[in-house]
Amino acid sequence: MAKILALGGDGIGPEILNEGLRVLAAVSPLMDLEFEIDHDLLHGASYDAHGVFCTDAVLEKARSADAVLVGAVGGPAWDDIRLDGGAECQDGLMYLRHHLQTYLGLRPARAWDPLITHTPFRDEVIRGADVMILREMCGGAMFATERGQRCVDGKQQGYDMTAYDEAEVRRFARGGFELARQRRGHVVSCDKSNVMESYKLWRRIVSEVARDYPDVTCDHMLADHCGYQLMMRPGDFDVVLCCNQLGDVFSDLTASYAGSLGMLPSACLAASPDDGPVFGIFESTSGSAPDIAGQGIANPVGMILSVGMMLSYGFGRPEMCRMIEDAVMQTLADGITTPDLGGEARSAEMTDAIIQRMNVKGNGWGGLGR
Ligand code: NAD
Ligand code: MN
Repeated sequence: MAKILALGGDGIGPEILNEGLRVLAAVSPLMDLEFEIDHDLLHGASYDAHGVFCTDAVLEKARSADAVLVGAVGGPAWDDIRLDGGAECQDGLMYLRHHLQTYLGLRPARAWDPLITHTPFRDEVIRGADVMILREMCGGAMFATERGQRCVDGKQQGYDMTAYDEAEVRRFARGGFELARQRRGHVVSCDKSNVMESYKLWRRIVSEVARDYPDVTCDHMLADHCGYQLMMRPGDFDVVLCCNQLGDVFSDLTASYAGSLGMLPSACLAASPDDGPVFGIFESTSGSAPDIAGQGIANPVGMILSVGMMLSYGFGRPEMCRMIEDAVMQTLADGITTPDLGGEARSAEMTDAIIQRMNVKGNGWGGLGR
């Protein structure tokens, strides 16, 4: 029996989580593994019920679970609330990432052949693109311990001190090189070491780690140029190492490869996945999409692929992940999509179509899994 903590969150979060859980229920008999699902509240839903974005009871449940599935969090009702405590107390997901130290954020971006006409790219630029944006999840400016608003020379100033220590960068970079070994063996690390001290340290530590992986090529790129090249030459990238903030931006940017934010899965792992299953938080990368919440039309694919990543990285079953990806590919090839990709399927219909195709042999692409 595997224990999953399921946190729907806000907006479309509970809707897409439900679709992901339906896929999990469908694969469970094929895996010969039963999943015990415990539901609870996160972020806005938690604040409304308990006055905090994540309760300690939820954190304890997460600690004793084998994996955590999250829908999405946030919304205009909560975005401006400030609670006592550090950065992690202002956001339910950040609370979990911080206390569970899920530092390795995997955000795979790929071009799906049937969706290429829905992207802003020309076919020859985007076809075959398969990039793993790795986002450091527990440090940097977003978790600044020196932060706030103050008056300086009569003017109001907001500040968040960016800091990374060598151990944070090292464990993250190691995870990146390990993943690159399982993929195409190429790492690009992006930074602004030309102008910022924290990135000078970042680049030095990544270079040190690179020496332990002579079989993996490592290039450093300044982040602004990296953003440009991610749009110009998507096919040239394999694994991209990013700090917390750049990874947040670049993973939404590369969601354009798929044609919709709703297509993007993610995993936040508490250890490098090189020797066996690891604990993680698995979530669709997008936000809570308040503009379409409650209508039953959110694209569930990012969430469903996140369930695939959970089976692969959290439970050591990459073949189950590939089966789900193949079923998604077949569904898209059959012309079935939700409105964000120009189709008419409702979230539940999209999921049904994917489940129906789950035993179909697919194209063998295995980029999300191991
Ligand atoms: P968003 O990602 O929620 O939405 C941006 C656009 O993409 C919207 O038009 C939305 O409808 C669309 N979209 C996103 N996911 C979709 C899906 N699955 N299917 C179809 N369309 C989809 O970003 P935002 O509007 O800037 O932020 C909304 C809220 O989400 C904010 O409160 C923000 O703090 C929060 N947020 C949460 C997360 C997270 O939970 N990991 C990430 C980013 C933002
Ligand atoms: Mn984001």
